[in-house]
Amino acid sequence: MPAPLLDVDHIDTFYGPSQALSGMSFSVMPGQFVTLLGRNGMGKTTSVKSVMGLMSPARGTIRFDGKNIAGLPAYQVARAGIGLVPEGRQVFPNLTVHENLVATAHNRQGQASPWTQEKIYALFPRLDERSGNLGANLSGGEQQMLAIGRALMTNPRLLILDEATEGLAPLIRNDIWHCLTELKASGLAIICIDKNLNSLLPLADHHYIVEKGRVVWSGSSTELRNQREQLQGYMGV
Ligand code: ATP
Repeated sequence: MPAPLLDVDHIDTFYGPSQALSGMSFSVMPGQFVTLLGRNGMGKTTSVKSVMGLMSPARGTIRFDGKNIAGLPAYQVARAGIGLVPEGRQVFPNLTVHENLVATAHNRQGQASPWTQEKIYALFPRLDERSGNLGANLSGGEQQMLAIGRALMTNPRLLILDEATEGLAPLIRNDIWHCLTELKASGLAIICIDKNLNSLLPLADHHYIVEKGRVVWSGSSTELRNQREQLQGYMGV
C-alpha cells in the first residue's frame, strides 16, 4: 500500500467555544478523487479550512506527504502543494483574468510539465476570450473557471474544491465536471465538496459522509450507490 498523500487524523477544530470538528479523520491517496459529503453545517468547509491552515485544529494531526502541516500558516500549506478553489470563488475582482492567473503562479514542486496560462486557456477557452477582463466583470461560471485556473497555476499535488458548481447553470456545470474528469485523468489528487451526487459518483474513488464534525460513513461509489437510500438522511440531497 502506498502512503496517503493527505492524512487527516482525529482533528478537533473550534470556532471560539463552539466545536465544529470532533475527531474528523479522512485520507487521500496519490491520484485519488475523494468527496466530503453531508448536510449543511456538518463540518466540510471547516475540514478544508483546517487542512489549508485557515483554521488551526486544537488536537489531531494533518499529514501531507508525510509531514505534519496542522497549524501551519496558509501560505506554507499552499507552498507544500495543496491548491484551494474556495467556496464563493474569491477571484481578485480588480485584477484581469491574466493577472489573476499569474498572481499566484509558481512551480515550487518542480513539476516536469507545469501549468501555464496557455494550458489553462486550453482547458477553459472562455477564459482566453476574457483574458483582459476584470475578475469583477466575469459571469459566475467564468469566475469559477478562473478560480480553478488560479489554483492550478500553483501546480498543486492536491486540489481541493469547495462547492465549485454551486449556483451555476447546467451547461457551465458540465464544463466544470469535464475539467475535473481531465484533471483526475492527469493523476492529480482531488477533494471535492459538492451537492451533485449524481455527477460525483462516476468520478470519485472514495466518499466520506460528514455528520456533526466527524465521518460517519466512508466507501466507494459502488458501495454508496448500493446504500444510497439508507444514507440519504445524512446527505440531505
Ligand atoms: P456548508 O455546506 O453550509 O458550508 P459545512 O458542512 O461546510 O456546511 P461548516 O461550514 O464547516 O459546515 O460548519 C460546521 C459548523 O461550524 C456549523 O455548526 C457552523 O454553524 C459552524 N461555523 C461555521 N463557520 C462558523 C463561524 N465563522 N463561526 C462560528 N461557527 C461557525
